[in-house]
Amino acid sequence: RLATSIRDLKKEYVLKSETVRALRGVSFDVPEGDYVAIMGPSGSGKSTLLNMLGCLDKPSSGQLLLGDDDISRMTDDKLAEVRSRRIGFVFQSYNLIQQLTVVENIQVPLYYQGRLGPKERQRCVELAALVGLRDRLDHRPTQLSGGQQQRVAIARSLVNDPYFILADEPTGNLDSRTTAEILAMFDQLNNEGRTIILVTHEDDVAERARRIVRLKDGLLCSDKQNSEEERTR
Ligand code: ADP
Ligand code: ADP
Repeated sequence: RLATSIRDLKKEYVLKSETVRALRGVSFDVPEGDYVAIMGPSGSGKSTLLNMLGCLDKPSSGQLLLGDDDISRMTDDKLAEVRSRRIGFVFQSYNLIQQLTVVENIQVPLYYQGRLGPKERQRCVELAALVGLRDRLDHRPTQLSGGQQQRVAIARSLVNDPYFILADEPTGNLDSRTTAEILAMFDQLNNEGRTIILVTHEDDVAERARRIVRLKDGLLCSDKQNSEEERTR
């Protein structure tokens, strides 16, 4: 039902004197509950793919299905709606609002959508508890460690019950202990059935995913399942 399907996805950027073929026909599926790490050298098309998956940009051709929604055929308005209602973003830089508390930061997407009622407020408290911040609801980001801030961002990414959590180098700013904490959080969420797609250049981060998809020169060059042994090492 919530599977994501990518078929022969192409993206070209037209510059003044040349056309850059950033994605040259990429196909793969992400079933509900999967945990995919996307890797590849700089310039291989990772950000471009992430922008398509995040509904920030439309493909030049090919198909991107999020459940029943075909991204490639959407109007920009509909695309923006899917982006804000159905995708959970987690960034390297957390992107929290410094003036707001933990629970208020988690509420932000709902606030902007004008759907922050009592039920939703309660749900945000539950999400804070889910990421281990039940006793920090009224703290501000400056009072939290990097790992705690990233957990706020993860809770915020879940408020809309997204198709998937889309994480762009989520541990890029974190030391190894805190990275382990965030990866444990992703394991927990994935074990509860949530779908995770993350972009990373760190092998030890990618190995914790269920699967590694590698891009090279705008093409998928490998798609490999991680063994349980690799994942728990
Ligand atoms: P990665 O994230 O793997 O480094 P990108 O998706 O950023 O790869 O880039 C893939 C290719 O597309 C590169 O050649 C890059 O220069 C080009 N590219 C990316 N974004 C744009 C853009 N907005 N305009 C023109 N070219 C772009
Ligand atoms: P990184 O630290 O990994 O570079 P950024 O925080 O700069 O990640 O954001 C990565 C991409 O996501 C950028 O292209 C940015 O435009 C986009 N982005 C940032 N905030 C949002 C948002 N709230 N919703 C959708 N896209 C966003």
